[in-house]
This record gives sequence, C-alpha cells and structure tokens, in this order.
Amino acid sequence: MSEPVSTVITALISPTQERASAGLMGAGQRLSETVGAEHVVVACGPEDSESASGLAHGADRVLLVRSPALVRDRQEVWLQCLTRMGSELNPAAIVLGNDALSQEITPRLAHRLGGASIGDAQTLTAEEGHISITRSVYGGKAMAKVKLQGTPAVVWVRAPSMDPARGRATPGQIEEWDFATEPEMKIQLLETQMDAGEGDRLEDARIIVSGGRGLGGPEPFEKLKELAKVLKGQTAASRAACDLGWAPHSWQVGQTGKKVAPQLYLASGISGASQHIMGIADSKAIAAINTDPNAPIFKHCQFGLVEDFHQVIGPLQEKLAELLA
Ligand SMILES: Cc1cc2nc3c(=O)[nH]c(=O)nc-3n(C[C@H](O)[C@H](O)[C@H](O)COP(=O)(O)OP(=O)(O)OC[C@H]3O[C@@H](n4cnc5c(N)ncnc54)[C@H](O)[C@@H]3O)c2cc1C
Repeated sequence: MSEPVSTVITALISPTQERASAGLMGAGQRLSETVGAEHVVVACGPEDSESASGLAHGADRVLLVRSPALVRDRQEVWLQCLTRMGSELNPAAIVLGNDALSQEITPRLAHRLGGASIGDAQTLTAEEGHISITRSVYGGKAMAKVKLQGTPAVVWVRAPSMDPARGRATPGQIEEWDFATEPEMKIQLLETQMDAGEGDRLEDARIIVSGGRGLGGPEPFEKLKELAKVLKGQTAASRAACDLGWAPHSWQVGQTGKKVAPQLYLASGISGASQHIMGIADSKAIAAINTDPNAPIFKHCQFGLVEDFHQVIGPLQEKLAELLA
C-alpha cells in the first residue's frame, strides 16, 4: 500500500442474519488490527440505530448513514455512499458480506475508487503491505491465495463462517452520516419480486435438509420439507435435482448455487460431487444418507448412513419430532 492508511471499513449494508453480521464484523476487526488501522463500521441509520451500541463493541467508529434514498435504489445509493466514504476515509480495505447486494457492489466500488476487488474470501489478512485472501477453487479441490495489489482492497467475504468480533472494553464512537445522493442514478430499481420461500435464507439457515437425484422424483422433496419443518431448518437440493425440476433453482447449493454454512447439513441421495461440496464445505457438521457405501459424500461427512432414503425418512422424522417435543 503506497499511501498512509488510516481505516478498514466494514460495510453492513444488507439486512442479514445475526451470524453473518457477526462474522463480517469479525473479519473487518481482525484486518484492521493486522493493518494497524481504525475499524469503521458503516450501517443503515434508522434501521440499525438500535443495534448501534452492539456494533460499537467491535469498532472504533460506527457511521450510521441517514438518507431517505436508501429505501429505494439501494444498490446505486450504497455505491455512491461507499464511494464517498472511500474517498474521504482513505481505507486500506472495504469489507462486505456475501449477500447479493454486497456481491454486486464490490467490483463497481473497487473500480470507482481505483482499487482492487475480489469475492468469496474465506480468510482475509494483510501481509507485506498487501491485503491477501484465500478462497477455494477447482470445485473445492484446492485453495488459492490471492494478493490484492490495488488500494483499497474491496472484498466480499463468506461472512457466516467467519469468527465474530472480539468485544472491546471501551465501545467505539457512534456518529450519524448524512448523505445526499447525486441526482443521476445510473441504475434504477424498478421492481422487486420476493422469493416465495419461508423463514431464513439458505445462506443463513442453521439446519439444512437437502436432497439429490437419488431421491428419485419430486414427491420425496415434500418429505424433506416436512423434516425441515420439524427441525426448524430449510430445504436445499443438488443441481441434478434442480435441473430435473424436482426442486426450485433457488434451492441449489454448490459451485453454481448457494454457499451455505449451517450447523448441520443433511444430504440425502446426493453423491457428493466436488461442485456440490464446494457449496457446503463451511458447514459445521455434514450428515449423509446414501445407498452407496462408496459415495464420495461419505468422505466429507461426520455422520453417515448407508440406507435407502425411502426406508429411513419416516422413522427418522418420527424420532426427531419425539425428541424435539
Ligand atoms: C461447472 C459445473 C458446476 C456445477 N455446479 C453444481 C452445483 O452448484 N451444485 C451441485 O449440486 N452440482 C453441481 N454440478 C453437478 C455435479 O457435478 C453433480 O453432477 C451433481 O451434484 C450430482 O447431483 P446428485 O448428487 O444429486 O446426483 P448423482 O450424482 O446422480 O447422485 C445420486 C446419489 O444418490 C444415491 N442414491 C440413489 N438412490 C438412493 C436412495 N434411494 N437413497 C439414498 N441414496 C440414493 C446414489 O448412490 C448417488 O450417490 C456442477 C457441475 C459442473 C460441471
């Protein structure tokens, strides 16, 4: 980094699950300590003012952005806002989460600030004057270490799987940041269609019950939904199952699907192809039900059952319902 660096900005710009916000704060805090910079957390003023004192325990400063425009055109407005902050605060890095808004903004923000951008970081640190990250490549078979040459480094991280911030003895300062948008919006949000799904987003779910081609048709996915309900979890699927139309594409997990990090991922009738594993590698525990004892999924799971899904799903659901009651 050629210029003297003063801050690391953590951008909490999307309403997301607590664990993802905590992981994002942790990533920003650790990086700021490594770089020796002030940790500035940016959040949405009116929405986040109640939790601002919590945020202040992991930051030197919390900037609550106030702008009526944040309600609509959010992508463009946050882009303008973070560009302005980036120009004023001289950050070494701007750290964002793995929500869709952050992923969209990351490269555009880096471009506007003349920095470097990358996404899907699993670790984030600074070495020899540069920000560097690691992330999995080749369908999860290898890890790549990437050094970012430009400043600021604008990075979105796999927030839910990162450690939370360390609580500070003295909370940081909370400030309000009034922000007026520029008149010209290059992109305008015309319409939003909400996903019909209920409960947590897959990326935020603590328990995920997932099915693959081995389930043999769409009907067993109804059984998975019932099981997910019992466990207060969410349902997911392999790409093969989604491509066959047995499950909606929004359920797809893996390299070209969602990256999830639940406490428990239960995979039924899923072989465990590397592209699928890539999306579930951050799970705390993986359990699998598969008729083939040599299925690759068994190499990745902590609990494995060599059985026909159709034989075990009924008794499993009954037993779990009984235990949880
Ligand atoms: C570029 C690229 C990107 C990809 N991205 C993704 C991605 O994001 N996500 C993804 O999932 N895949 C992805 N794939 C596809 C991936 O390679 C696999 O083809 C896919 O994951 C296989 O899905 P599956 O495990 O459901 O099906 P299969 O591989 O057909 O496995 C079915 C499994 O079910 C078991 N089984 C059969 N009957 C039963 C039963 N009655 N009870 C229990 N078990 C049973 C079988 O033993 C088998 O192991 C990608 C591929 C490519 C090339």
